Amino acid sequence: MPSLRHKMPEQSAEKRRSNFSEVALGYTADTAQAEASRCLQCKTSPCRQGCPVEVNIPAFIKHIKDGQMDAAIQEIKHKNNLPAVCGRVCPQENQCEKHCVLAKRGQSVAIGRLERFAADHGQTHDNGAHPALKESLGKVAVIGAGPAGLTAAGDLAGLGYQVTVYEALHAPGGVLIYGIPEFRLPKDIVRKEIDSLKQKGVTIEVNAIAGKTFTIDELISEQGFDAVFIGTGAGLPHFMDIPGENLNGVYSANEFLTRVNLMKAYQFPATATPVHVGKNVAVVGAGNVAMDAARTSLRLGAENVYIVYRRSEDEIPARSEELEHAKEEGIQFHLLTAPVKINGNDKNWVTSLECIRMQLGEPDQSGRRRPLPLEGSNFELPVDTVIMAIGQGPNPLVQQTTPGLAVNKHGNITADEAGFTSKEGVFAGGDIVTGAATVILAMGAGKKAAAAIHDYVQGKKARNHG
Ligand SMILES: Cc1cc2nc3c(=O)[nH]c(=O)nc-3n(C[C@H](O)[C@H](O)[C@H](O)COP(=O)(O)OP(=O)(O)OC[C@H]3O[C@@H](n4cnc5c(N)ncnc54)[C@H](O)[C@@H]3O)c2cc1C
Ligand code: SF4
Repeated sequence: MPSLRHKMPEQSAEKRRSNFSEVALGYTADTAQAEASRCLQCKTSPCRQGCPVEVNIPAFIKHIKDGQMDAAIQEIKHKNNLPAVCGRVCPQENQCEKHCVLAKRGQSVAIGRLERFAADHGQTHDNGAHPALKESLGKVAVIGAGPAGLTAAGDLAGLGYQVTVYEALHAPGGVLIYGIPEFRLPKDIVRKEIDSLKQKGVTIEVNAIAGKTFTIDELISEQGFDAVFIGTGAGLPHFMDIPGENLNGVYSANEFLTRVNLMKAYQFPATATPVHVGKNVAVVGAGNVAMDAARTSLRLGAENVYIVYRRSEDEIPARSEELEHAKEEGIQFHLLTAPVKINGNDKNWVTSLECIRMQLGEPDQSGRRRPLPLEGSNFELPVDTVIMAIGQGPNPLVQQTTPGLAVNKHGNITADEAGFTSKEGVFAGGDIVTGAATVILAMGAGKKAAAAIHDYVQGKKARNHG
């Protein structure tokens, strides 16, 4: 029988329900070496096909097996600027690990856990030696300090560009810092990854809003940037348009998680931002964002936290690990259930969520079976808080203030695979182009755009001097 992957040590569900410390504790060196020994070092390495940033997976795993931990992290960093983040939040089960030959015979190599081990080793054993900055090949501006922007910035700085990242919020990181909770992705880990980009020469300016503080055209015509990369993400929350959404106690997941993560509401009153959850919380949706909002509510002291989702468990879009963790912690699932109305009291505070039961019909355009309401099945869920986690749209400001920048019907910037937009010298990638997706896809887009920007800037310089 093929060997099983090594378990990730974790805080017990009972303990972690009431703290914000990281759930997964990470492999020890011995466990990492034992897990790395399961890798067959396949010549064709199918695992690599599943990695959007093309990490040489067998090579880094072999280094871990041989106890060469510094070499392992160096190998990963050739391709991946944020390995400690990816090792924690990438949906590996649908990417590299899905392609691993061992997946067919039992359990794939735990590639994500090994990446996390190597990255954490790198963060704690940084010898302080960083490559000297090369002579500048040109000036590039990056809008948005999320995974797409940071990756493009890191690659361009590595190539020898002078890169300035402009970030609207007061801290860089995008969703990694304001969305994904501390218990899945400690903010200290993200900060260290960003520090290592700064050491590569990337300048980050926070509280700088493209479309308000300056425009894209000004960056090119007045500030002398050779190219601009836009990675402004999908930060605009969707609502359902049902009665009662304006009541007190209704949040978008985005606002709720930003209050708790970025503004540290869980430490109120030591911090200035409060957050109210009450005893009973309903979270509408079942993606990663919904699981994060539900598990955060539990940690803030709610007694009952419900996920309300209109399809069945088979269609749940959250990572399987997050779903399992949510179940272990006691999140309650109302599947095949859709909200129709939010009720409130005479002070306009939420008192309940009215829902209807659903059944699944024929597949719709998404290929998933369409949920249909079961007439007369309405029921009321008594709750104090309703958190909407049904998806996000593109941040619109840059598109509205940049003439000549084409967008699609959803407001996403139109860009090709390499990140070229309709506007000369302007590139884009990540959620702002694809719609809400994943960290690694945003990073892959940032990488491709960095390569395209390099070709574009050098081509332009050669023509100007020719
Ligand atoms: C709660 C939550 C949990 C998630 N969990 C996972 C997960 O487990 N695994 C996974 O792979 N993916 C997950 N995702 C999705 C993933 O985080 C995103 O796909 C990814 O962050 C997209 O990267 P990005 O760089 O395109 O955008 P973002 O991360 O959104 O970064 C965009 C940045 O641009 C800034 N910005 C916006 N407009 C402007 C402007 N006008 N000027 C300057 N700056 C601007 C924003 O403030 C932000 O910092 C999650 C998303 C959320 C919301
Ligand atoms: S496919 Fe799996 S076993 Fe083969 S090299 Fe990749 S990680 Fe190792």
